[in-house]
Amino acid sequence: MSKTITLLGSTGSIGTQSLDVARMHGYTIFGLAAHSRIEILQKQIAEFHPRYVAVVDEAACDRLEAELTGMADAPRLLRGTEGLRTLAAMDGPDVVLNAVVGIAGLPASLAAIESGHDLALANKESLVTGGHLVTDAVRRKGVRLLPVDSEHSAIFQCLQDQHSAKRLTKILLTASGGPFFGMKQDQLAGKKKEDALKHPNWNMGAKITIDSATLMNKGLELIEAVWLFGLPEDKIQIVVQRESVIHSAVQFADNSVIAQMGVPDMRIPIQYALTWPDRLPSPVPELDFAALKSLSFDVADEETFRCLAACKKAIRKGGLAPCAANGANEEAVRLFLQDKIGFLDIGRLVEGVVDSQSFGGDYTLQDVYDCDAMARAYVRAHL
Ligand code: NAD
Ligand code: MG
Repeated sequence: MSKTITLLGSTGSIGTQSLDVARMHGYTIFGLAAHSRIEILQKQIAEFHPRYVAVVDEAACDRLEAELTGMADAPRLLRGTEGLRTLAAMDGPDVVLNAVVGIAGLPASLAAIESGHDLALANKESLVTGGHLVTDAVRRKGVRLLPVDSEHSAIFQCLQDQHSAKRLTKILLTASGGPFFGMKQDQLAGKKKEDALKHPNWNMGAKITIDSATLMNKGLELIEAVWLFGLPEDKIQIVVQRESVIHSAVQFADNSVIAQMGVPDMRIPIQYALTWPDRLPSPVPELDFAALKSLSFDVADEETFRCLAACKKAIRKGGLAPCAANGANEEAVRLFLQDKIGFLDIGRLVEGVVDSQSFGGDYTLQDVYDCDAMARAYVRAHL
């Protein structure tokens, strides 16, 4: 069945893989949005002919405007963060796919939902920073939140039987363990971005790759799972599954466990979010059990990987604590990628900000932005 999609964050890892899926099924692209990589965006425009394109970076937007002058059927350009929100809200697509990285994705998620769009969500930071605002808006508008993150897609796939879903007692959230699995703090202290950017199983954007090395990604995903599936943090167990073949599992009242498996390739969860509740052929190869032979399981070392411990503390504290953890992490990862802080500083700073205040209670979007700014300032003040 044909679909029309608005894709936010089209130039990134999830964005380009989403276009692979769109190409395979002949989907129509209504709008594309990106931050600044206009060379990639231009190729996407030439192939998919979107009606609208939003570019967040002003200088990049100017360059694209110049490039598009005179082009037949050129898309309408939208500019800056306001342009991103405008595009997210526009009528036209059947679904908005948000693959922006970081808290920058939150206003776009809210704009899409408030305009009555179903939202396929890769941008986990939307739920981590503004989970209460996002889920409230989803309920009010009666739209669907379709998880793209592989673990959450796996859980969602395991919960398709409505009867069983009511008897969900536990989530088994799998983790690859990242490139530094098994290492202790003394071995981690000297790790540089070049070491952290080598992920064993997944090829992803720089920020999430660092988050995978620190296990912050699993902490963010734990918070994401709390918002998506309504179980408390202590009913979500992190299971290290080194091969990234079991993408997550659920347990029901009778202690029966159902897992979702497949080759580690994001095009499966991306496609499922777009075709749900249907399934279509996929470009991803089948899982070869003869070659696989064995699967291994382990526990996550929270004593060493403090980001995960900090995220658990944050969701238990509630309110804006997860937003603070996320803001501190975004700032710390930015500094780590510039070689300005060490690998272990990321966990120290994320935990530090979570421990610094109580954070409880309801919040508005402005409170989220204020908390994010506070957390980033905390990081810069505690280097
Ligand atoms: P990426 O860095 O490869 O791409 C990010 C995209 O967001 C780019 O298109 C970029 O132009 C855009 N962007 C960056 N800053 C922006 C801003 N301020 N405003 C608007 N757009 C901006 O990242 P990615 O790996 O594709 O990850 C995207 C999201 O998906 C993240 O939230 C990540 O956690 C999540 N995710 C990624 C993977 C993966 O395999 N890459 C898996 C699961 C979830
Ligand atoms: Mg994931």
